[in-house]
Amino acid sequence: MNTKVWKVDKYVDKLENNPQVVDAANFLRDNEVVALPTETVYGLGGNAKSDAAVEKIFAAKGRPSDNPLIIHIAEKNQLSEFVAEVPEKAERLIEGFWPGPLTIIFKKKEGVLSETATAGLATVAVRMPDHPVALALLKSCGLPIAAPSANSSGKPSPTTADHVLDDLNGKIAGVIDGGATGIGVESTVVDCTESIPVILRPGGVTKEQLESVVGVVHVDAALTDEAARPKAPGMKYRHYAPNAPLFMVSGTTEFLQGLVEEKRQEGLRVGVLTTEENARLFEADVVLACGKRAELETVAAALYDTLRRFNQEKVDVIFSEIFPNAGVGHAIMNRLQKAAGNKLITE
Ligand code: AMP
Ligand code: MG
Repeated sequence: MNTKVWKVDKYVDKLENNPQVVDAANFLRDNEVVALPTETVYGLGGNAKSDAAVEKIFAAKGRPSDNPLIIHIAEKNQLSEFVAEVPEKAERLIEGFWPGPLTIIFKKKEGVLSETATAGLATVAVRMPDHPVALALLKSCGLPIAAPSANSSGKPSPTTADHVLDDLNGKIAGVIDGGATGIGVESTVVDCTESIPVILRPGGVTKEQLESVVGVVHVDAALTDEAARPKAPGMKYRHYAPNAPLFMVSGTTEFLQGLVEEKRQEGLRVGVLTTEENARLFEADVVLACGKRAELETVAAALYDTLRRFNQEKVDVIFSEIFPNAGVGHAIMNRLQKAAGNKLITE
């Protein structure tokens, strides 16, 4: 399959009438799959009402079929088509954070969406992305769009159209290149089907932000306890992994540098994932600064690109600094732990 690339400037007015966007929307209406920029990462979109379209998403990504997709909408009134009820707390979260990096789990209306999209669950995950190109595409096609991240399953999520093409060129109908995404980690997933909302996946909206709007919010036990079974089916899979084994390191820069030296003496090509503040303190084959420690948003924005760059650099092993597990650091550490398969070396 020839994968089309549509270049779209996100700052242009009336994007829903832009010929590139309209062309991409027509592919979606024909039940083809199209990658699109959002404010978190690039998504791989398909008509959420069509089994054929949704099956193409799973096939292109190699995604396990028990892992349901997030349904993307452009207007709040689309919810009533496939959501059974919007509880009062969900209503407040929508007011506070949509459009934005927050996915809300609702009880679903049966018989509207593809059962493949929701993996046969009685619930559905929904989000309204805060990106002009994504919103224009959703409006132009007029459909709820199922969209997981537009990477091969298990790889770091894509934050540029080039990342998408690295993984999916020839496997999807097209990609809208709207430039690099902003936030860089996926949406926060919050389950609003019980009386107290539960975070199933940390992401772009922090627990503190959610609590400022709805009061107490719980965190799924599986996020802190490896033995617990995650409520979001996707959270049990290894994700975001670079090709080389990645170790998180808790300790001083000298300790991390010592680990690097050991491996270099074994003849290995060693990578270090660090920050702008610390980059000059390390000597290794490949030292990559992933944003600024003093501004964790910049670390989130750069994380997946940095993991992919270690692949291009063909390192044999990667040692990474760790980050404070609060605010957006919660999402960063969750992704880093998954990328590392939880391998942590402590001084
Ligand atoms: P991704 O599409 O890769 O961003 O992942 C979406 C995440 O949301 C995965 O961890 C899914 O398992 C989770 N998810 C989607 N729908 C549901 C649902 N109905 N209930 C619980 N988790 C869900
Ligand atoms: Mg994903």
